[in-house]
Amino acid sequence: MSQGNFCIGIQPVGEIDTAYLKVIAGSFLGELRIKSLILPPLDHPDYAFDKRRVQYNAGIIINRLETMNFKGCSKIIALIDADLFIPVFSYVLGEARMGGKCALASLYRLKQSSERAAKVALHEFGHLINLGHCHEKTCVMKFSKNIEQLDSISAIFCKYCLDHIRYALKPTS
Ligand SMILES: [Zn+2]
Ligand SMILES: [Zn+2]
Repeated sequence: MSQGNFCIGIQPVGEIDTAYLKVIAGSFLGELRIKSLILPPLDHPDYAFDKRRVQYNAGIIINRLETMNFKGCSKIIALIDADLFIPVFSYVLGEARMGGKCALASLYRLKQSSERAAKVALHEFGHLINLGHCHEKTCVMKFSKNIEQLDSISAIFCKYCLDHIRYALKPTS
């Protein structure tokens, strides 16, 4: 199964070790047969820093990314090495809106594991193509609020989620 012209842009936000970017690109290709493009880094997002929480507001960063023009990329997975929050959670490992163009994954709490980063990236990508949280025990779409939960899932989609992805990415002709 090849996904034709579908291409994911892997977008560092601030400085990110290229090893992470390559592992994530490899997991999209290996798990989903999707090509990706590693994009030049954006500036560190000072605009999204919340002084009171001493964290970065994931929604504000995604809003900014959504206004940008990513030529040739169908979806964007942005990576940041900073602690993220959304108002209802004390922190999040990643954030994406259902059906959105851009998702964000944070390396901050992953204790330098590119394998964990790949899981968060695949999970957030799932949301971008309208996959909700899955109840299968080890599916990468299962919700993880911390790395203990993230470690209990695998870096692969269950059959149900994979079927959804294949259908969502099927070229319309
Ligand atoms: Zn999720
Ligand atoms: Zn699943």
